[in-house]
Amino acid sequence: MCPVTNVQATGADGQHGAIRTRPVAELSEVCVAPVGRQAPTAESRLLCRYREQSRRIIEHVIDECLRRTLALREDGGLAPVMPLTEAPERCPRGHNSKIARVLIGYSHIYYTRTVTCRVCLELGHEPATWALVDPATQVTKPAGRGLELVLTPPSARGGVGRIALHVDRNCLADADLMICGPCRIAVLEQLRVDEEVRRRGYGRLLLAAALLRAPDERYRWSATEAADTTEARAFWSRVPFPGQLGEPTYCTDMRIAAGLTPDH
Ligand SMILES: [Zn+2]
Ligand SMILES: [Zn+2]
Repeated sequence: MCPVTNVQATGADGQHGAIRTRPVAELSEVCVAPVGRQAPTAESRLLCRYREQSRRIIEHVIDECLRRTLALREDGGLAPVMPLTEAPERCPRGHNSKIARVLIGYSHIYYTRTVTCRVCLELGHEPATWALVDPATQVTKPAGRGLELVLTPPSARGGVGRIALHVDRNCLADADLMICGPCRIAVLEQLRVDEEVRRRGYGRLLLAAALLRAPDERYRWSATEAADTTEARAFWSRVPFPGQLGEPTYCTDMRIAAGLTPDH
């Protein structure tokens, strides 16, 4: 599992202890300090220019950090996600969108559209806003901004590939899967969500992203056994997984890719 860094550090508690402005002031002072009576040399001018550039870079990083922290606060932390491109007919609490009415917004954390159920909002139900994330949008080269589904294809046919959920480069959840096109077999090897960011729909989103890579009308799906925890059972008892749970079916290509002899 990749380390989770600044997203949690600047999480729901709204703390942003990492933001410091001191280095900028220090650099400016150094740069404008008189150098005695000596005329500035080409070298000292160059040094000043580098310092000026560093100051601008640091200021930019601080601005960006502050902007993201404020956005995180406004968004109320990491909002839950829905694997959809359009507002659903009903909110997760079952309110019919046409009657309840919805507000369409934007998440400055995920860089995606959001949908707010007005009935949930007005009744004070939390959460009332969900981010709409298209599970079909998977990238191999992440931009490093917002929520991205980052795909690492397998190195060989039937090998293990990965879809990771990143928020600002931080990997918060991932799914390992094996898909064999010729044999029409797909196996979900692992589905992990960092403990601090559970109950946000990340697991569902990754599952939707995995199933899109091998549609169940054409592929036979199975999965390895899930952890025997209430959380895992709650997840698997609700999601629409189209195959056999706990009894993975591998094809010969998968066994070869895993370094096993075909009949093991
Ligand atoms: Zn609602
Ligand atoms: Zn195969």
